[in-house]
Amino acid sequence: MSAENPLILPEDHLFGRHNLPYGVYSTADTPDRRRIGVRYGDRVLDLGAAAELFASPHIALLRAGSLNPLMAAGRAVWTAVRTDLRLWLTSPTHHQQVAPLLTPLTEVTLHLPFEVADYVDFYASEHHATNVGKMFRPDGEPLTPNWKRLPIGYHGRSGTVVVSGTEIVRPHGQRKAPADPVPAFGPSQRLDIEAEVGFVVGAPTALGSSVPQSAFREHVFGVCLVNDWSARDIQAWEYVPLGPFLGKSFATSVSPWITPLEALDSARVAPPERTHQLLPYLDDADSEPGGIDLRITVTLNGQTIAEPPFSAMYWTAAQQLAHMTVNGASLRTGDLFASGTVSGPEPHQRGCLLELTWGGREPLELADAKRTFLEDGDEVTISAWAPGPDAARIGLGEVTGRVAC
Ligand code: MN
Repeated sequence: MSAENPLILPEDHLFGRHNLPYGVYSTADTPDRRRIGVRYGDRVLDLGAAAELFASPHIALLRAGSLNPLMAAGRAVWTAVRTDLRLWLTSPTHHQQVAPLLTPLTEVTLHLPFEVADYVDFYASEHHATNVGKMFRPDGEPLTPNWKRLPIGYHGRSGTVVVSGTEIVRPHGQRKAPADPVPAFGPSQRLDIEAEVGFVVGAPTALGSSVPQSAFREHVFGVCLVNDWSARDIQAWEYVPLGPFLGKSFATSVSPWITPLEALDSARVAPPERTHQLLPYLDDADSEPGGIDLRITVTLNGQTIAEPPFSAMYWTAAQQLAHMTVNGASLRTGDLFASGTVSGPEPHQRGCLLELTWGGREPLELADAKRTFLEDGDEVTISAWAPGPDAARIGLGEVTGRVAC
C-alpha cells in the first residue's frame, strides 16, 4: 500500500478506530441503492460488502438499506459486529482487501440512518428550564414543582424527523403576544433552534414492561445530534395546557452518523448533584456515572454562537428511558428520545436563541449582522465531540439545516 493508505489515520482523527459510527448512504452510480456505511476517517466503509468479504454471520443485517434490522438484533450482536469492524479496519493484513470498499465522504449522499418509530423530547437541562421558565412565566417559580422529581418530556412527531442538510421551511401558525387582543396568523417571526443530543433505541420491549436504568445498554443502540427547530411565537400561545405541538412538529433534524454507545464509554461522567431524594426507579446514586461529557458547538452562518456542555444535564438518558417506560409503554426499534436543549450555566453555553438573546431583547452581534431569531437563508450547524480512550476524541459529526428563502 502507498503512503496514502486510507486505512491509516492520524491518531487524533475524530473518526478513528474508537468511534466507528453507522450511517446510511448512496452513491451517484447507484442513487436508488441505500447501504449501511461506517465512517472511518473521511471515508465510508460499505458494511454489507465488508460483511460479505469476511463471511460475517450477520451479513443479512449488514446488507440492509437501513439500520433498523441491526438495531433490533440487540446488544450481543452490536458488540460482535463492532469487534469485527475494528479488526477489518485496523488489521494491516486486511488493508489490501478493505481499501476498495471505502468511498470518500465527498462522493456519497447520506440519508436518514434509521426509520424513526416514536419520538420523545425531554427538557433535562436545569439551566435551560430555568431560563425559559423566567421568560415564559415571569411571575412564578422558574422550575415547576415536578421538575426535579421526574424528567419532563412530550411526544413529538416522528414523521417530520429529517436528516442533516434538509432545508427547513418556516412554519405558519397562530401567534398572540399577551398584549394582542386576538391571535394573528402567518409565518413564524421567532424561529429558533434547540441544540440537543438524541438516543436511538435498538432492542424493543413488550407492552406492559418497563426498562430499569440498569438495562439501558441492552436497549440503546447509539447517539446522534438533534436540532429541535422551534417556533417560539406559535409555542408560547399554544403550549398551555398540553405542552408543545405545532411550534415543534414541523421539523426536527438529526445528524447522519449514529455513534455506538460503547464509543462514549470513556466520556461517562457523574451528573450534577441531586437536590431531591428520587424515587427508586430514578435514583442513580449508586449507579455507574450516567452523564456523558459531550462538547457541543453551535454555529450560525459559520460563526460560533454557543458551546453547550452536555455534562451539565440534570437528568441522564438512563433516567429518561426508565421514566419513559415506567408506565408499561413499550419500546420499538427506532424510537428516538432527545435530551432537551443543552444549556450550561454560562451565557455562551446556552443552546437556543431564545436564551442567547433573552427572548429577543438582547440581539446577538455577528460579524456582519445582528440576530434575534432566524432569518430566511440562515444556516445553523450543531457539532460535538467527546473524550475517547488514549486521549483520542470521538466525533459525533454534525447536524446542519438552512431556513428556506
Ligand atoms: Mn427540544
